[in-house]
Amino acid sequence: MTSLSHLAEKILGGYFVSRDEALGLATDEAISPWVLFEQANRLREAHFGNRVHLCSIVNAKMGGCPEDCGFCSQSARFETGVERGTGIISEAEVAKAEARAEAWGSGALSMVTATRGYKAGAEFDKVLARVKQVSAGGRLEAHASLGLLGLDEFKALRAAGCTEFNHNLETGRGYFEKVCTTHTYDDRIATIRNARAVGMRTCVGGIIGMGEAAEDRVDLAMTLRELDVDEVPLNFLVSVEGTPMAAVAKERAPMAPLEMLRQVAMFRFVLPTKNIFICAGRQHLGDLQALIFQAGASGIMIGDFLTTKNRSPEDDLKMISDLGLEPKACGRSSIAKVVDRETDSGRVSLAVIAN
Ligand code: SF4
Repeated sequence: MTSLSHLAEKILGGYFVSRDEALGLATDEAISPWVLFEQANRLREAHFGNRVHLCSIVNAKMGGCPEDCGFCSQSARFETGVERGTGIISEAEVAKAEARAEAWGSGALSMVTATRGYKAGAEFDKVLARVKQVSAGGRLEAHASLGLLGLDEFKALRAAGCTEFNHNLETGRGYFEKVCTTHTYDDRIATIRNARAVGMRTCVGGIIGMGEAAEDRVDLAMTLRELDVDEVPLNFLVSVEGTPMAAVAKERAPMAPLEMLRQVAMFRFVLPTKNIFICAGRQHLGDLQALIFQAGASGIMIGDFLTTKNRSPEDDLKMISDLGLEPKACGRSSIAKVVDRETDSGRVSLAVIAN
């Protein structure tokens, strides 16, 4: 492989790394992670400067999903202790989630439901109403993650004001059937294409650490590049007792933090201009969490995940500030500055959105 500095230079000039080059970045122990991160950071800085994108989600319908995604605590097929199939959350709950996301500096709130997907019907109408509530509020962009959708449903979602749709591919095509058997990789790709067809931005990523090979991670990165997705959420497996992936994880040594960061860097080399943000499982990096930006990540999910806790938003905003980086609301709102405020639960750092 040419020197990493030369490779990064070529990428900045418009070159696309080959699959073999990407595999080398993900696996070649002769490549010092520190040299790799230096060049990944150069690519990040070239496209994102000092900005760290922040996004937040709300679990709009928890549990009871008929699908069998092997990592998911919300599948009705696994005994995970997660509540089985709540209804769509109320207007009041959405309003609370909006207020939290706004206080943290997220420019968008993504409504996530544990479902295979939707066809027109009463439940979908409720989801649309909640999406409309966020978009009509005008303070946050309304995003959604609702499983497999057809074109008609996307048109309705777009009309409700949704601007971005999340639908992860989870892993490379070759490993997907080890992760999920109730729908196919092509079903997921069709949904991503439908979202684009109605003019929505797409947010598509996956999970690292489900027993997949480095080749599968590279395949995922290459597919995301082909699909030209807009944002790339990367997760590290959070092993939930009762799921098949928890059993897979027990059989393997956990990935070392530097190895995890090496994978982030590989994604940055393959997807130099895309917003790569780190979501669930960031805690597995331990003391190395702050190195995600050096490894090429340009954003984080702030606030809790669907069924598991994240680090506190205050700690995340402090980390960003300590690194000399600037929180940037994901979505149309522009920058956010961090201020200290007295709240009922004590003094906290809050990010303020300035449009
Ligand atoms: S479709 Fe979504 S909610 Fe359902 S099992 Fe898969 S990941 Fe979980």
